[in-house]
Amino acid sequence: MLLSRVISILLSLLFIQSVAHAQDPYVLAPLDVREAKTNDMGVLDQPYMALTNANVVDVRTGNILRDVTLVLQDGKISSIGNDMPPQDAQIIDIKGYYVTPGLFEGHFHGATAGDAKRALVSGVTTAKGASVDGFMDVALSRMVDAGYMAGPEIMPAGVYVTPELGNTTAILADERLYKYANRELYGEEALRDVVSINIDRGAKWIKTRSSGLSSRTSGPDALEQAYTDSELGAVMDEASKYNIPVSCHSHGVEVIIAAINAGCTSIEHASYIDDEGLRLMKEKGTLWIPTYISVTGFELPHDDYTTTIARQRHPHLVENLARMIRKGHEMGITILTAVDSSYGPESVYRVSGEINAFIDFGMTPLEALQAATIKSAEAYGMADKTGAVEVGLDADLVLFDRDPLLQPSVIHNPLAVISNGRIGLNRHVGAGRVLGDN
Ligand SMILES: [Zn+2]
Repeated sequence: MLLSRVISILLSLLFIQSVAHAQDPYVLAPLDVREAKTNDMGVLDQPYMALTNANVVDVRTGNILRDVTLVLQDGKISSIGNDMPPQDAQIIDIKGYYVTPGLFEGHFHGATAGDAKRALVSGVTTAKGASVDGFMDVALSRMVDAGYMAGPEIMPAGVYVTPELGNTTAILADERLYKYANRELYGEEALRDVVSINIDRGAKWIKTRSSGLSSRTSGPDALEQAYTDSELGAVMDEASKYNIPVSCHSHGVEVIIAAINAGCTSIEHASYIDDEGLRLMKEKGTLWIPTYISVTGFELPHDDYTTTIARQRHPHLVENLARMIRKGHEMGITILTAVDSSYGPESVYRVSGEINAFIDFGMTPLEALQAATIKSAEAYGMADKTGAVEVGLDADLVLFDRDPLLQPSVIHNPLAVISNGRIGLNRHVGAGRVLGDN
């Protein structure tokens, strides 16, 4: 009797847990992306919606378009204004909620559908890849583009162009990479080969490194140049044949300078950057993606960075980055938002944290929001598609219950997220859901 009760309690606990897990977008298992409404082919709906009583944040000016109707159709913003909502659209009163463009994640390591979904529910509607194993980012980007998944639109980077490529499972994904299993990836010819394989497989960015990692002691040192100037030059040259930009992981001062001089489109991290590095970035128009918020995580026991060396280096890295982001912004360097995370189930940091850090380091709330939206769109050549809430652009939107320019901490708490008109997050608020029964 007692035993059967214990068993039934255990079973019901298990059941409750599995249901809760299946419904929780923040902890989705890797392939757990089932969503409600699709057509017969399994493609997710892009509902024809008129959102009334919207306060739209104009990220170009900081003005709020108050109490307007925002019409979304076929994944695009089809009108914004005071006209009567079209009667054949689904009319949803959003009660004065604030609407911003979807956010840009400039250094995305997500490799699974769950990772992409976690990025999406945090407000990310566009992600620039920073390399993953096995071209998983290419697959994710194609699933999203085809509409089988609501997700951030992804600019994939394919596999990492790094000396230790052969030590990763990345090489299993393409026969042409097998030959790097028993040697390190050095030499101009080999580098050109891996760049062109990436591009052939669908990479829209190339990710390479001019130094080792700041968070680990394996591989080259964070201050040491991982590739010679001519090797870096070969990577740039090969990518430029296909008009593909290159992002360069760099930490130490000397390696940052080598990467900028080699022609990297963006410098990622730049944790030890100094005045000379900033001056050169400014001169060459290099983009800077500092991923500050992940470095704050070096101190914490979470899944992305947990090494002793990361914790030891943390105080210097965060102090230097804070100081240099402030200076770089004053100098007019293009500084863009990113986390540097796989967006795994236990990852903590999000683009909202980077936006709020930028404000702490001297950007106005509008400038920090621009770094995550219109500035990123312009820097990545996507301003004709997204980055603002404007007619003709993709319906990439985030909803908040207060003005993010007056209280930017609210960016940590999106109420709804729409990407290409597909609903990625639709929270229950009070008695109903923000976007109705969609
Ligand atoms: Zn990274």
